[in-house]
Amino acid sequence: MNASRSVLGLVELSDSRNGGGYNSGASNVLRDVFQDRLRGWVRAKDQWRLLNNNRVCVILKDMTRGGELELAAAKLGRIFDEPHFHMGRALPLSVNAGFAEIKDCGRDISEAMEQATLALTQAKKSRRLFDVYSDDCTKGPRDERELISQLERALEMGELQLYYQPKVHAGYQSLLGAEALMRWHTPEKQVITPDRFIDVAERYDVIRPMTWWAIKTAVARLARWPTELSIAVNVSPKLLLENEILSVVQDALDIHGVAPKRLNLEVTESIMVDNQDTMLGQLARLREMGTRISIDDFGTGFSSLAYFRDLPVDEIKIDKSFVMHMLKSEKDLAIVKAVINLAHNFSLKVVAEGVEDQHIASALSELGCDVLQGYFFDKPLPVEQFNQNYRL
Ligand code: C2E
Ligand code: CA
Ligand code: CA
Repeated sequence: MNASRSVLGLVELSDSRNGGGYNSGASNVLRDVFQDRLRGWVRAKDQWRLLNNNRVCVILKDMTRGGELELAAAKLGRIFDEPHFHMGRALPLSVNAGFAEIKDCGRDISEAMEQATLALTQAKKSRRLFDVYSDDCTKGPRDERELISQLERALEMGELQLYYQPKVHAGYQSLLGAEALMRWHTPEKQVITPDRFIDVAERYDVIRPMTWWAIKTAVARLARWPTELSIAVNVSPKLLLENEILSVVQDALDIHGVAPKRLNLEVTESIMVDNQDTMLGQLARLREMGTRISIDDFGTGFSSLAYFRDLPVDEIKIDKSFVMHMLKSEKDLAIVKAVINLAHNFSLKVVAEGVEDQHIASALSELGCDVLQGYFFDKPLPVEQFNQNYRL
């Protein structure tokens, strides 16, 4: 092995809460701060490029093996330790990074890019500043491939189910519809929740048949429910890059004779970061068909404010991490209020998810939030149970 090497790094500004401290143009302010800080980190011989407002790719040249990468990472941490002062307030910043060695004299960096992405995901998951891709990580993909083939089989064998969690009117607390959430019933009688398989499914193609199945199943369910009820289905952003979703949705609605406005598609705000034009175009097309679009987990990414104006959507779902603590944390309450006002100024409906008790439900209703969802009303339920609870 060479004594020195080049290392590819992906550095991401994790902003989950910081965006709330900024007003309009938040992403531009943060992007500038992010870039300024990075300039203080890299050396003259390194190269770096902004991939989007909160992610850069760096190539660190001639890194010796004696812990130089760890030193570089520690410096990165220090540089972002200092809060950013904006309009007289100190706003905390934080970053995560994933590193991978560039093999083959840098002729093909796509492999290093993939590996750094895995390391970054790992760092974020374990809440560490950084992670370095090592061959140990290959254990992950092998397990993943096994999981994928199990999922393909599960889909074929009908082991996937949609559970339904009620969405209720904030004022009357009457039923408006449900969010469909996937559950996997294994032959061993285990019920596996989506946090165990959606991420992996999204990295492989199996998310596609799974999502088409979810859309068809939800629309078939709508055909058997009263016409005033709607169902929301989660759609992975990458499926919006292709046209297939348009025909899947249209066919399902046609076959079952269901009014398009009863089908709600939930997409996360991460869609606004990559391939923005394609995504916005597809959302607009789905809306032209008459389906409703919700932005899920709103507030957890920081690109949203800048793009808000042009979003072809009907509804914003405030992320449960803000809702759950809004009566204990003034900052979370401020975010909830801000999102409600912002959405209403754009004539969008606001759904709060993660409503776990009566106090939060009442507070949200007083703030003018439109729709509530959370354990206070019901957990996601198997369809028979849902039908029974709501006399459908
Ligand atoms: P999500 O879309 O944000 O769904 C809401 C999650 O919050 C659900 O977890 C739900 O059970 C949970 N939740 C609802 N109310 C409360 C509450 O009051 N307190 C707490 N602590 N949690 C609450 P679930 O069902 O485990 O789903 C997790 C994630 O998996 C979903 O997050 C969604 O991103 C993904 N997912 C689920 N089904 C599908 C699907 O069919 N397709 C895709 N692409 N993703 C799915
Ligand atoms: Ca959702
Ligand atoms: Ca959500």
